[in-house]
Amino acid sequence: MHVSNTIEDEKIKAKYDIIVAGGGMVGCTLACALGKNPLLSKLKVLLLEGNTKQEFHLNTEYSNRVVALNQNTKSLMNSLNVWRHVENARLQPVRYMQVWDACSDALISFSSSEVFDDDLAYIVENDLLLNAINQELSTNNVDVVYGAKIAEYQLLRRDNSGNDPESLVKMSNGDVYACKLLIGADGANSAVRQAMGAQYLSWNYDQKGVVATLHLAEETENTTAWQRFLPTGPVALLPLDSKRSSLVWSTNHSHATHLLKLPDEQFVDALNDALWKQYPRSSSVDTCMSWVSGLLRRVGLPDGAVRQLPPSVKNIAPKSRAAFPLGFGHSTRYVAIGVALVGDAAHRVHPLAGQGVNLGFGDVKDLTDMLADALYSGLELTHHSWLEKYETTRQRHNVPTQLAVDALHRLYTVDLAPVVLLRSVGLQLTNAIQPVKKMIISHATT
Ligand SMILES: Cc1cc2nc3c(=O)[nH]c(=O)nc-3n(C[C@H](O)[C@H](O)[C@H](O)COP(=O)(O)OP(=O)(O)OC[C@H]3O[C@@H](n4cnc5c(N)ncnc54)[C@H](O)[C@@H]3O)c2cc1C
Repeated sequence: MHVSNTIEDEKIKAKYDIIVAGGGMVGCTLACALGKNPLLSKLKVLLLEGNTKQEFHLNTEYSNRVVALNQNTKSLMNSLNVWRHVENARLQPVRYMQVWDACSDALISFSSSEVFDDDLAYIVENDLLLNAINQELSTNNVDVVYGAKIAEYQLLRRDNSGNDPESLVKMSNGDVYACKLLIGADGANSAVRQAMGAQYLSWNYDQKGVVATLHLAEETENTTAWQRFLPTGPVALLPLDSKRSSLVWSTNHSHATHLLKLPDEQFVDALNDALWKQYPRSSSVDTCMSWVSGLLRRVGLPDGAVRQLPPSVKNIAPKSRAAFPLGFGHSTRYVAIGVALVGDAAHRVHPLAGQGVNLGFGDVKDLTDMLADALYSGLELTHHSWLEKYETTRQRHNVPTQLAVDALHRLYTVDLAPVVLLRSVGLQLTNAIQPVKKMIISHATT
């Protein structure tokens, strides 16, 4: 992929107001939102996706790739009519969440009745969600080209006739499209971001997320999401139905490779160990923690003693194990003249807080609203004032979330006693002080 100044005008196949580069969950949702917004639906919009269109079948076995969607995402999907397709297929509400430390007794729990009076999150398979979005997208006046690998960008330049400036997108088959506004929804390795020349702050976590579909030993209501912080990284079980959960087990590369190679029964043993095993404990941390618990009890606050036992895993769905590299990424600019970034193209986070795609859907909501406001006020699609407002608004939300998730990751991959003590007291106090807990939930859902 490279940027050039040599794409010839005569090769332009079609001109659009907006081109969305990348049809993952975020790009498709954006195209759908543009098509459904009454102020924007008259614009000519093109969505380009490098992969061929996947036929979707609702199999009895769940897909191993799922996301935890927050209430804001549900509202967005409702407004686009997408949520009803998800509900008609399948989703699992999360009504309780328990997060605990393997190196101490520290625990935090969230319950929908306690903080929200609504479900905390919904677990939905990625391909099911994408299919639901595509069902609505197909009812819109948006052109979609699949199997369309973008080879080259030429960002905003004036055409020979002196018309409005436009960006050019060259496909690997030689087709060229022109647009006033180019939106990069092309994921963490975004070529649009590279063409913008935006600085990108990124690092790898030296971890992979091992995923699998789990069959549980006992049938229950199963509306709890579990996450245990091990010294090697967090292991999380997300509920799918009464007897199945989805695994996201973040661990170092060599352990992930080892886990992928294990026979199914040994993998299940290793996973049950990860959920249940007693890890080496520091007696001074335990003493301080019981002192803090006693203090919380004396002042009438919850001391974290009410802990639920995690489920036992019976076996895994055949061939459902896979691993994905985990990393952090922050683009210092989300916009340039005639260009904007959304989703993982702009920001990437560790999955431990289930925030990644929710941040991307937040971008979609704000970008669509601001674009509609701009047109309503008579501004150009590429006017810098709305573009900059978009960048500022989203970075104010996304950057603190990314930093908080990164800090959590760092705090929990250390097993030195003073650090364990610090984080354990912090977690216990956060669990005890309702307003702090509510603040965390409220930030995670907006
Ligand atoms: C193990 C794991 C668990 C996760 N769990 C959660 C969770 O619980 N909750 C949550 O919110 N997030 C979660 N995430 C994060 C979430 O999966 C990502 O944030 C999300 O997939 C990003 O979507 P996107 O559309 O921005 O990018 P992508 O999914 O990367 O989509 C980019 C699209 O652009 C296309 N593309 C790229 N380059 C080109 C090109 N040159 N030409 C044409 N097309 C191109 C690609 O084909 C792709 O379809 C998790 C991530 C991992 C790894």
